[in-house]
Amino acid sequence: MDMYDFFSDTKTKPSRAMREAALDAVVGDEQKDEDPTTRALCERVAALLGKEAAVFLPSGTMCNEIAIRVHTRPGDEVICERSCHLINFETGGPAAISGVMIQPIDGENGTFAAAQLGDVLRPPSRYAPESRLVCVEQTANMSGGTVWPLDRIAGLAEAAKTAGLATHMDGARLLNAVVKTGVPAAQWTAGYDSCWIDFSKGLGAPVGAVLAGSADFVTRAWRIKQQIGGAMRQSGILAAMCLYALDHNVDRLAEDHARAARIAETLAGLAGVDQVLPADTNIVIFDLAENAPTAPDLVALLEADGILAGAFGARRIRLVTHLDVDDAATDALCGSLSAHLG
Ligand SMILES: *Cc1c(COP(=O)(O)O)cnc(C)c1O
Repeated sequence: MDMYDFFSDTKTKPSRAMREAALDAVVGDEQKDEDPTTRALCERVAALLGKEAAVFLPSGTMCNEIAIRVHTRPGDEVICERSCHLINFETGGPAAISGVMIQPIDGENGTFAAAQLGDVLRPPSRYAPESRLVCVEQTANMSGGTVWPLDRIAGLAEAAKTAGLATHMDGARLLNAVVKTGVPAAQWTAGYDSCWIDFSKGLGAPVGAVLAGSADFVTRAWRIKQQIGGAMRQSGILAAMCLYALDHNVDRLAEDHARAARIAETLAGLAGVDQVLPADTNIVIFDLAENAPTAPDLVALLEADGILAGAFGARRIRLVTHLDVDDAATDALCGSLSAHLG
């Protein structure tokens, strides 16, 4: 049976046209800056994000981990929202790779205010760790793909700068926020020293992320990339698919958002659903009511109907829309959810 896969937008498979874009890519040794296609991708993303330079990396995780390493020294403190990827899904990387401590903030739908940053800043002291870096996630994945409001994310960066902190944006799904709001990417990233976008999520490429910042930041990032084995060779094969994604798969993110909104609307009307988090973009997170199946049980029921979903905790489910789930898949999902939770 063909499964409809709503587990994650990482499940997208490169289309035939995307694969064909790789066939004729001009390639060279990336470590020696000799891969023209990778260089073109980095220049294009640097311009898109309003930064001087950028570096191609195998994953978004490596973007976060390298950025933290560049911005901090061992013993420093990194401030971010409690549900964020770099705390929960990077195997303790900030501690292992950079030797930093994390100060998690309890936010609102994955976002937090400048005042909350003020509350946790450490005054200079012989005893306390030094507050060094603020990280934000746009969109906020585990809060349902929430889009940070522009004034909130800009105000936070301003407060961080005033306090002498560096700023980093995990923009794995920044382009979802761009398509949703019409606010250009460079406006979102303006107050952030480093930022990145992922190509292997809703953009549909098989591998790749690009980390951007000042020329000096990227020079330092390159050294860490080399050190931890992230430097590549003929990476233009991958970069060509990422360039294809920028040309063809950005505007269509609006379709993913429309389908996610439809799923959220369906869920809101079902007796077995306790709450649905605001579904701003392509992620729908909901909690099951007491008398409904548990999350693992519902995942099994959906799977029997040909649908894959993710259980996050005993009663929480995440569904993600992307370019490999169409209206027919969404109809099937909504029908199945209604049958099990109605
Ligand atoms: C997926 C994701 C990452 C990590 O990206 P990979 O390319 O899977 O390593 C980081 N942050 C967020 C918000 C993500 O959703």
